[in-house]
This record gives sequence, structure tokens and C-alpha cells, in this order.
Amino acid sequence: MLRMRKYQRIIKKIYRVLPKYAEMTDERLKEQTSVLREELLQGKTLIDILPNAFAIVIEADKRVLGLMPYDVQVLGGLALFFGNIAEIKTGEGKTLVATMPLYARALLGEKGNYLITANEYLAERDGQAMGRVFEWLNLSVGVGVGTEDQDFETKKRLYNSDIIYTTHSKLGFDYLFDNLGSELAEQVVSKFNFAIIDEIDAVLLDGAQTALVISGSPKVQSNYYQISDWFVKSLTEEDYEYSDDKRKVWLTKAGLTKLEQYFDIKDIYSEQYVDLYRHIVLALQANYLKQNGKDYVVESGKVLLLDVVNGRIMPGVKMQGGIHQAIETKESVEVTSETKTLGTISYQSLFKKFTRLSGMTGTAKTDEKEFMETYHLKVIEIPTNIPTQREDKKDKIYVSNQTKIEESLEAVREGIREQRPVLIETGSVSMSNLYSLVLLQNKIPHNLLNAKTVAREQQIISDAGRENSVTLATSMAGRGTDIKLTSEAKQHGGLKVIGTERMTSKRIDNQLRGRAGRQGEPGESVFFVSLEDKMIVENSPHWVRQTRQRLAKRVTEGKRPATDQVNIRRLKRVMDKAQKKFGNAEVQSRKNTLAYDTILSGQRTRIYAARNKVMSEDETYLEKIMSQCVNRVVTNFVGETTNLTVESVADFVFNNMKSDYPLEDIERRVGRDSKKKQIYEFLIQLSSYLLVQSLKRFNDGAQARYFKKVVILRAIDGSWIDQLEYLQQLKNIVNGRGMAQHKPVNEFGREARRHFFKMEDQIFLDIYRSLLLSELKAKPDGSIDIEFP
Ligand code: ADP
Repeated sequence: MLRMRKYQRIIKKIYRVLPKYAEMTDERLKEQTSVLREELLQGKTLIDILPNAFAIVIEADKRVLGLMPYDVQVLGGLALFFGNIAEIKTGEGKTLVATMPLYARALLGEKGNYLITANEYLAERDGQAMGRVFEWLNLSVGVGVGTEDQDFETKKRLYNSDIIYTTHSKLGFDYLFDNLGSELAEQVVSKFNFAIIDEIDAVLLDGAQTALVISGSPKVQSNYYQISDWFVKSLTEEDYEYSDDKRKVWLTKAGLTKLEQYFDIKDIYSEQYVDLYRHIVLALQANYLKQNGKDYVVESGKVLLLDVVNGRIMPGVKMQGGIHQAIETKESVEVTSETKTLGTISYQSLFKKFTRLSGMTGTAKTDEKEFMETYHLKVIEIPTNIPTQREDKKDKIYVSNQTKIEESLEAVREGIREQRPVLIETGSVSMSNLYSLVLLQNKIPHNLLNAKTVAREQQIISDAGRENSVTLATSMAGRGTDIKLTSEAKQHGGLKVIGTERMTSKRIDNQLRGRAGRQGEPGESVFFVSLEDKMIVENSPHWVRQTRQRLAKRVTEGKRPATDQVNIRRLKRVMDKAQKKFGNAEVQSRKNTLAYDTILSGQRTRIYAARNKVMSEDETYLEKIMSQCVNRVVTNFVGETTNLTVESVADFVFNNMKSDYPLEDIERRVGRDSKKKQIYEFLIQLSSYLLVQSLKRFNDGAQARYFKKVVILRAIDGSWIDQLEYLQQLKNIVNGRGMAQHKPVNEFGREARRHFFKMEDQIFLDIYRSLLLSELKAKPDGSIDIEFP
């Protein structure tokens, strides 16, 4: 409330200064950007000049685009400017809303102000259209599309723009690539200042499980997949159990016993069976969690993942950590090779890098608690410009699926009779295929929009607003899928949305309803649900099943009319509760993912920060690493070697420092009863001496610095890749154990930390060996080739 009042006050100020700008010539108005920038330089704050900034964009929007932002759009713009989620209904003009906060935030001259959309089509379309306004106002705009074939200069220019329209994946990949290189000057994504995330609910909530991954070379193929799959397929129900939310599965005691018999081993948890166990867990997940038609489809011998958000096939995307290969084995298609992960980041971690984050969507209010708790983002509901005329009907509840489908068909027919466009929504690709069949059997022509028809999507959508058209779709979040009504369709009552089941959350339900009644147009929405719907069956108490059976019996006995609609309030509550229970499980699972991710992200941040420092070739920092390195390697060796003898010391020297170091010298320095301390001092002395010798080989300081940089980066990258791999597998393993005894995330955190220290040791050892053992070869052109040990 307080916030609203604050915004209203600013809006008043905006309209007070607007006439001043409205009177200006184009030339003068264009100059206002530098006028405001000057004022900022003189000491005014962004808040001081905010009304002017907004007024300038409003006037420019009007002159350049011919669109004058409505009051509610200005309100939305303020909500975004201050870092909130603005809930703005479909068709209300989010694209235009974004121009105001983006301009204002870019005024400071700090780079890194983004509008981030879910797909390239939108980034390009909106970036081009709105870019005209910013350029008119003398700000630079970049549109980030086409990830592969962009040269460095183009990329650099893009990220140096005042305002950038791009996709989340492009930004994420460019960021990861920046941290794979070895030159600071080659990094392009430097600033994370302000971001507006378009369809923020789809990105942060529905896409919460997705991470960006840069893959490297293939790994050696494991031969455990097939045997694990055979074993898992032989299990019966008492051998495994699910977590309440059905997102995890693990072996019960009975299952473990079977496992040990099957493979004739003892104690599967022991170190030697880690790899086998990991594959068993993967096979369990592939067989009992991942569903063909929901999570993936199999097409011409390939497993293709489906986007959880819109059911689209994601070509080229694979699940990491071996689960993709486990699914391929389950489906008996050719198993593709696993690749090493060079870099990975989740969208959550990516967006958390921004100083100020905001987002817009048509549906966020239902999940405001989660946005607040997880991202500290407040949801602000922006009213529509014209009140909606959409009629949201009460749910129609049935006992059996069959009656539900029959009745929903009747509703479709009614829509056709009224000559209005009808949009039928199903919860999964497989349901949409089934429903399509039913429509065909009933001779109802329709367009089917699901994962397999991406190419025709735009065409189907533009047809979906015509009178008499029937469109069948899986839930499709995302803009650019706006259904525009023809004037006939409007006259006949607008779009009729028919949901054939409750979706996975109220928010998705609302998303569907929101397809109808845009911008004050007429429209209608209704959901058909049955007690046999999967979500209800899996998430409701026992008595519901009994009621279902009892009622079903009465129907077959003919005691009730053919329409067994049971409009009992109690059942409605069951539906709501089931949806809520499912929703809570989703929230929990997202929190969980985030918890894992935070641990990984902390490690990544440390590694990337270290890399950046090394890349800056800061002499003091490099020196510090050198001496840390020498100290840690020698300390570890002396500390960990139980039997410190001339032989073990000599071994260490030959392997890590100098292969032709005279043995007599070691014998002279390491006596039979030398103390650890003496050996430590000897090795430190020797290392330091050899290090100086090694660096003396370079002609100048710059070359030596370059050598150190390459050596350190190489060591960090090699170990970091292994660490990523390890964390991936660790996550699978801790998730594949029963949850009774421990919290998997805690265990993950503990192990991850322990392994991080181990990785540091490895990095230091690699640096140490490279520094002392690398061979140098001078090339005729004066450059030097380094041959690493
Ligand atoms: P959303 O993304 O919120 O669904 P869009 O940004 O796609 O909406 O805009 C929907 C339509 O409304 C577009 O055709 C746009 O030109 C139009 N529009 C937006 N704002 C205004 C305005 N202030 N005046 C007139 N038309 C507008």
C-alpha cells in the first residue's frame, strides 16, 4: 500500500513535467538524455531526476512508436525500476512498459542493463522495435541473438551497449565462455547492473531445474548402464520407494539385499562400488521417475528432452550426469557418449549476479511468497487498462475421466455452435495426443499444438483467434504466443478456454485463463476435472479413492444420471488441496535445487574470481600464489608421508621437481633420523631455488608472468572440470539414498567442501610440477613453446 502511494506520487510528478517535454522539438527532446546525465554528474541522484526520465521516454514512445503509455503502464514501469515483479496481464503492453525503467537505469552510464527474454524471437522483435526509441534518445542498444557465429568485436559491442535485449541462455553462455579463456581483454560480459526478466515465473519457477552447460570432449564410456538397467527392471514394488513428492527414488532394504545378491557383492555403499551404485541410481531414476511423453520423447532412435514449461522438444539438450544415457538404455536406443562439463550455471545463480533484478509476467501473485523467500522479489499487481470481460466459470467436477471427457467435448461443441474460437489445454503431450484422437473420432477438426509441431506454431497461433477454430495445446507459457481475435470472433463472445485438467499450479491455470479476454475483450474459461486425474489420484487422501469407487459403482448401476457431475463442495476442496500439495512439493523441490546450486555457485564464484585475478597478471598476486603453492605442496608431502626416508624424499623430488637432481645431494641432506622439520626446510629451500632457476629461463618479466599465468590457469581449469563432474555425481548419489537417516543437501554440502579442499591441493601440486618440470622450446619467431610435464 505504502509502495503504491509512493508510486502515485512519482506519477503525479511525471505528469507535472511531461508538458515541458511535449512542447520541445524533436531535436531538443533528443538532447535531454545528455541534459539528465549532466545533472547526475552535478550531484543529483537517479531518484531526483526519475520523473523527468520517465516523462522523456513517455514522450519519445509517443513520437517514435505512436504509443503513449497508459497510466497503468507507467505504474508498471516504476515497479520494475524499483526492482519488483510487476504482474501485468497478457496483452497489456509489457514491451512498452519496459522502455521506461530501462531508459532510467541506463542514464547513469553504467553498462549492463538488460531485458532478458526466454527466446531469441522475442529478443529480436522487441529489441528492434523498442530500440528505435532508445536510439532516438541517443542511447545505444544491442540485440543478442545468434550465439555461435558472432565475432569478438560484435560481441564486445553488444555488451558495451547501454541497453541490451537478449535471452537468458545467450547471456549465461557468454558469461561461462568468458571464464574459460585466458585473457581478461577477451571477456565481454562485464557488468550485471539491472535486469528485467520477461516471463519471470516461467524462467525462475518452471525452469528452475534447468542449468546451462558447456560441454567439452567425450568421456570414456561406462559399461554399467546396461547391467544396471537390467537389474532395475527386474525389481518389484517392495524393492524401491519414492519420496513424498515423487521426485526421488531409492532402494529399500529389500532392494539393497537384491542388489547385493544380483551382483554378488557386500556393502554397495563402500568406496569400491561407488561407480556401480551411481549407475543403479541413474537407472532407478530413468525407469521410475522419467516418463516417456512427459519428460522426453523417443524419435528416430534418439531421446529428445521436452521443455517442462511449454512441452517443446529441446533439440540438442541433454541431461547431465549420466541420466540421459540411463534413459537411452531404458528405451533401448543407442547410448550417446557422455561429455565433460567445462562450465555450468543455473538461471537462478546467473540472475543473482545482478545488482538490481526485476521481472514481469501475467501470473506471479499466486506464488508471491516463494518469490519473496527465494529471490527477495516483491510481486506488485498492476491493474488492467480496461477491466476484463472474461468470465471464469466454476470448475466442472466429475467422478470418472470418461464422463469428464464427454462433457468437455460437449463444451467444445457448444463453442463451435456459438462460432467462437475454442482453445483446449491439456497437461501433457501424451494427453494432448489422446484428446486429439477423441476429437477426430468425433469429427471435430482442430489444430494440434504440441512438442512435435513447433514449426507450425506461429501459424497455428495466428489461426487460433478465428471464429470456428478449435486449437488443442499443451500449456504454453511465453509471449509471442498471443492469440488475436478476429472481429467476428469478438462478436460471438471471444475465446473460450477449456482446461481438461487442473494444471500443476494455480499459476499455470491462470496462465491458461489469461489466453482469453485480453485488453478488455470478451472471453470465457472453464476447467474440467475428474477424481481420476493423475494429480488428484496422487495427491489426495485415501477416502477420495473410496468415494470414487463408490460413485463409479453407482454410475455403472445406472443409479445416477449419465452426467455424474458431483458438485460437492467437499470435492472441490479435495481438488484445491491436491493442487496445493503438488505445488508445495514443487516449491520444496525448487528450494532443494537452489540449495545444491548455492553450494556449487559458491565454489564457482571462488574459482572464477581466482581465475580473473590470475588473468590480470598482477605480480603481487602471482607471487603470493607461487609461495602458497610451494608451501602447501611441501607441507602436504611431509605431513602425509608416513615413512619419510631418503627414498621417499628422492621419489618426491624426481617426480615433482627435477628428474635429474643428484641423489647424493638428497642423501647428504636427509639423514636417517632427520626430523620432519628438517626435511620440510630442505624441500622448501630446494623448491625456491629451482623455481628461481626455472623462471630465469625467460628473457623478460612479461614472458615470465605469462608463463605463470598459463601454468596456474591450466591447473585450475583441469581440476575444476573434475570437481564439476564430481559434484554432479555426488548429487545423484546422495539423492539416491533413503532420506530417513540424513539430509541429502547437508551431506552434499559437507562432501562438496571436503572435495574442494582436495581440489585445491591438486591445483597447487599441478602448478608446482608445471613450474618446475615444464620444458621450454624457443621457436624461430622468438616465441616460446611450453611443454608441460
Ligand atoms: P504483453 O506482452 O503484455 O502481452 P505486448 O507488449 O505484446 O503485450 O502488447 C500487446 C499490444 O498492445 C501490442 O500490439 C502493443 O502495440 C499494444 N499496446 C501496448 N501499449 C499500448 C499503448 N499504450 N497504446 C496503444 N497500444 C498499446
